[in-house]
Amino acid sequence: MSEVRLRFAPSPTGFLHIGGLRTALYNYLFAKANDGKMILRIEDTDQTRFVEGAIEGLISALKWAGIDYDEGVFMEDGEIVEKGDYGPYIQSNRLDIYQKYVDQLLEAGYAYYCFCSKDRLDHLREEQKIKGQIPRYDGLCRSISLEEARERIAKGEKAVVRLKLPVDKDISFHDLVRGDITINTNEMDDQVLMKSDGFPTYHMAVVVDDHLMKISHIVRGEEWLPSTPKHIYLYDCLGWEKPEYVHLPGVLNADHKKLSKRQGDVSVEDFKNRGYLPEGLVNYLALVGWSPEGNEEILSMEDLIQQFSFDRVSKAGGVFDKNKLDWVNAHYIKKLPMDELVDLAIPELVKAGLMTEEDCKEKRDFLDLLMETIRDSLSRMEEVPEKVDFLFGDLEVTEEDAKDQLKEDHIGDLLKALEEELDAVDEVDQDFASSVMKKIQKKTGIKGKKLYMPTRAALTGNVHGPELSNIMVLLGKEKMLDRIHQVLGE
Ligand code: GLU
Repeated sequence: MSEVRLRFAPSPTGFLHIGGLRTALYNYLFAKANDGKMILRIEDTDQTRFVEGAIEGLISALKWAGIDYDEGVFMEDGEIVEKGDYGPYIQSNRLDIYQKYVDQLLEAGYAYYCFCSKDRLDHLREEQKIKGQIPRYDGLCRSISLEEARERIAKGEKAVVRLKLPVDKDISFHDLVRGDITINTNEMDDQVLMKSDGFPTYHMAVVVDDHLMKISHIVRGEEWLPSTPKHIYLYDCLGWEKPEYVHLPGVLNADHKKLSKRQGDVSVEDFKNRGYLPEGLVNYLALVGWSPEGNEEILSMEDLIQQFSFDRVSKAGGVFDKNKLDWVNAHYIKKLPMDELVDLAIPELVKAGLMTEEDCKEKRDFLDLLMETIRDSLSRMEEVPEKVDFLFGDLEVTEEDAKDQLKEDHIGDLLKALEEELDAVDEVDQDFASSVMKKIQKKTGIKGKKLYMPTRAALTGNVHGPELSNIMVLLGKEKMLDRIHQVLGE
């Protein structure tokens, strides 16, 4: 195989959709697995859909996800920069390049100028719809000679350039996932290649760029499949060698419809904000539409690069299962170095108003223990506040079971004994916390569930939860005493 070069080519029309991230990921995995290069190109030929800040957002989402592409569009010191030997990589910076190839197609008779007004085209479409026909251009301007067209343009008439498709010709190509595909030109439209404002359409720009950027494999969403025959025909007209194609199955909701904003989070940013780790999201996303040969489901980027191939990409859409994502993410939370875990928890605690940034800076040991205590119960970092809320503020007993525990006859003896032990120390440390329950058992004769459940209920308001000794250290002497007094009504 000649050099493997793949590209992710998003349009800057908003946030990066989770399905787009998966496309980028598969491009990246295949490029890296084959010692190739991955390029980020920005397809902004439809200026009406351009969204301010979208390019920056795309770049930062890819960076966050660990998709470390080689060439194309990057951010440096807050500026968008283009790097690599095949630039520019932003299509609006390449307009003169497209013009040259459009001229070549016009000269060779593979394309023609079309002067039809928007009104005429709207009218045509309406008529075709009424007749139950597929809306398409009727070819009125196909017979205008290039000479005549140029004269009309010189006089100020506006025109677009259309592809002149041959009549009744089968166009075939091979897709590495879907096999051979053939479409007849009678089912296709004379695609606009260049708009009257001098901007190419996506179809023209994508073919020119993929060729000039020496792209070996085009890996994109299946929504582009109907466009591919037009692109194949353009490669032929321009006498260019065609790349390999892979059209990826969609990313679907549980109801097998396309994952859409209406049904919840779809942007990479949303998932980041909810406390998914990039490693977790990337690992899970790789499995939506692709499966490894073995049964292993926890796969690092390195593992994915080693194992990825297009033969195991499915043709059918992959369902995006949030529970499975949570399970995978929980795995990565368990493995995260404590420092990083704490750094990710701090903004959550601050946002929830449980701690201030100052507090967090001063209480690093507290935060280490806090996160060690709850990390096994976390699927997403956004859950941190709800898991630790019971430690802050006054005791709140809402659980029925906990209320019952606090009504037990021996609660007074138990908590008095704990109070005495607390009074005897300056602070609650791990030594104290891990031995105090034994001491109380000895002193009061209360043991087992009758010892632990009411104590936990009194200290946390719940009957279940993380390691009790850790909770004691996290609460500290004063808070423990406050809660004991609160329960005893003192
Ligand atoms: N610009 C297209 C998009 O926004 C990319 C299509 C392609 O990869 O060819 O999805």
